[in-house]
Amino acid sequence: LDADPGNLSNAEKEIERVLRPAVFDDFTGQQKVIDNFQVFVQAARLRGEALDHILLHGPPGLGKTTLAHIIANEMGAGIKVTSGPVLDKPGDLAGLLTNLETNDILFIDEIHRLSPVVEEYLYTAMEDYKIDIMLETGPNARSVQISLNPFTLIGATTRSGMLTAPLRARFGINARLEYYDAKLLTTIVLRSAGILKTVITEEAAYEIARRSRGTPRIVNALLRRTRDFAQIKGTGQIDTAIAKYALEALNVDEHGLDEMDNKILSTIVQKFSGGPVGLKTIATAVGEDEGTIEEVYEPFLIQEGYLKRTPRGREATPMTYTHLGIKRDGRTGN
Ligand code: ADP
Repeated sequence: LDADPGNLSNAEKEIERVLRPAVFDDFTGQQKVIDNFQVFVQAARLRGEALDHILLHGPPGLGKTTLAHIIANEMGAGIKVTSGPVLDKPGDLAGLLTNLETNDILFIDEIHRLSPVVEEYLYTAMEDYKIDIMLETGPNARSVQISLNPFTLIGATTRSGMLTAPLRARFGINARLEYYDAKLLTTIVLRSAGILKTVITEEAAYEIARRSRGTPRIVNALLRRTRDFAQIKGTGQIDTAIAKYALEALNVDEHGLDEMDNKILSTIVQKFSGGPVGLKTIATAVGEDEGTIEEVYEPFLIQEGYLKRTPRGREATPMTYTHLGIKRDGRTGN
């Protein structure tokens, strides 16, 4: 039940693809972002121009890749997909860029992980639709400039703080995706269940939705696992009882927090008497990257009221103690 796409098997990726909305109208939530994008796409189409470069940021599994595909679809354009860590040589990038047709989309996931040389190479491509390539090596080496077809770069990142200022400045459109509330996620569960031809009650859909950490990728994964339980332990149809049974068996916490969420909270409470404690110290104690905690875990914990950010560090809230079943003096109890 990982929100990280890097940890998905091929079969799961295939199901993700099937469940992926293809047009703006099928995309649930993020209404403001969608409304704006619809205007930008329409305007660009009317002018027959490429869309401005777009930076999408937000935690994993909220729909960044999906949106990039939708934008390409709605532009009637092609899309090439790559990611920061994969593009390690300027030559790889040049190959992709020179193969783009007019107004195509180049989607770069994890764009904060581009190497500095590749990133710099991207600048002139984004600005002037031009790149320099080196011909030959040694004494005959010379660089020639080639023109690219106008294109749109869509960059996605979970770590917007790690983007360099020059790269950030080259995006004309900047959009942040937010966690989804349980009602929106219920809509997504019902839609996905329809596509998977699974019968589910609205109440059961809500039960799965409210325990999915505000994340469509997790909601879809939980739906599929719950469907397995319904098939083997029940009648094949998902009702609240089966949903609760499955979620319990899958160790999904009553509030949808995952293992790392709970580890962060219990570390703050048990090792640092509830805080305040610095981010770096928490990161070392739980064995996770500082930036990942800050941009992937913390936003949800803060939004849900389990964590407070203060000038002196992170602090547990009364809700945290209740959630962990720990009394304020540190002893376990209810
Ligand atoms: P990200 O790129 O932000 O990590 P993805 O775009 O890959 O997230 O989305 C993960 C999964 O969640 C996809 O299978 C997609 O179908 C689903 N999903 C994401 N956002 C939505 C949405 N707004 N409505 C319906 N399904 C969504």
